[in-house]
Amino acid sequence: MINIKEHIRMHNPDVQGVLDGCEQTLWLYMDKGKTLARSISMRAEDLLNEIKKHRNTQPLKQVQPDDTHIEFLEYLTSPGKLEEIVKLKPEMMEKEISTIRGIIGDEYFYSLDDDKRKSTEFGKRLIDEVFKYGNYRNSKTFTEIYKCLFFKKATCVYCNSTPAIIFKNKKGRDQALFELDHFYSEVCYPYLSMSFYNHIPSCSNCNARIKLAQEFTLSSHLHPFLNCFDEEYTFKTTQNILGGEALTTIHLEKTTSTQEKLAVDLELENRYLNYLTTASAPEFSEGVYVNRHLLSSRHTGQDEQKRFFKMLEPKAPREKNNILQKSYAKLNRDILKVFDVDKNYLKS
Ligand SMILES: [Zn+2]
Repeated sequence: MINIKEHIRMHNPDVQGVLDGCEQTLWLYMDKGKTLARSISMRAEDLLNEIKKHRNTQPLKQVQPDDTHIEFLEYLTSPGKLEEIVKLKPEMMEKEISTIRGIIGDEYFYSLDDDKRKSTEFGKRLIDEVFKYGNYRNSKTFTEIYKCLFFKKATCVYCNSTPAIIFKNKKGRDQALFELDHFYSEVCYPYLSMSFYNHIPSCSNCNARIKLAQEFTLSSHLHPFLNCFDEEYTFKTTQNILGGEALTTIHLEKTTSTQEKLAVDLELENRYLNYLTTASAPEFSEGVYVNRHLLSSRHTGQDEQKRFFKMLEPKAPREKNNILQKSYAKLNRDILKVFDVDKNYLKS
């Protein structure tokens, strides 16, 4: 619900340094990972050679190799290309996709089956044999990277409801309790399946139950490494909570003119109507209403106000950049905004 870079900034001001370090760790894992017998470049070469060998002969694991497969794999194995793709910045993804579409059609990667996109055999082989996303997801490198990005204690980037944590399990290993959503789906864009900025730490509800293989692109959806959901949307209460009415419903209002549909496609408003109870939002709203006088600058510096602010912090952090650290922090901050009109508590 905020830009991931802002989440990092709250822990380490050298955001670019943190991100560069993680990109490099991921690339070294792909290139020389001890748990992988061969580097990604070698694996891509292996597939290229196998396809060349079977060109115009028999189908290979249901793939009938042709010049397009070869041209694409030659592009992928050209010097520096795989490293570039793994470290590809989100703003460069559309350009790369368009270049690759000039070489190979989408139908080589997926087919439409009852309106559902399904990987072709070639697409599957790219994900499983060349990019090996599944191996990475179970690797130590994965948890190391997300510890570096401060996802040891955080929440889902998309919904800010489910905790996204890394804990020490009984085997003494770090285990992540969250998923990585492929912003550009791995079914449609298997060559982006191991791109660092295409991985969005998210909960299984957002990733595996709601988003699924829906087509997300930079022009149609906010990208959590580029945009900030908090600046684009506000939870608005339907009741007059400032006048003491109980909070019973909310709606999610788009506050900018950006044409995109992240909230709609992730069903955020519908979900939050039910989250109101689990978030204890009505009680939070009532508690703020009762103490609303303490938000006034007349109480600045007074112990009573300090105590009240301290009580607010765990539910509605003063800084927006702390939103990902607390479940429902975005919702609570938006409720608080109704009362704290002079921003005596909320800092951003
Ligand atoms: Zn989520």
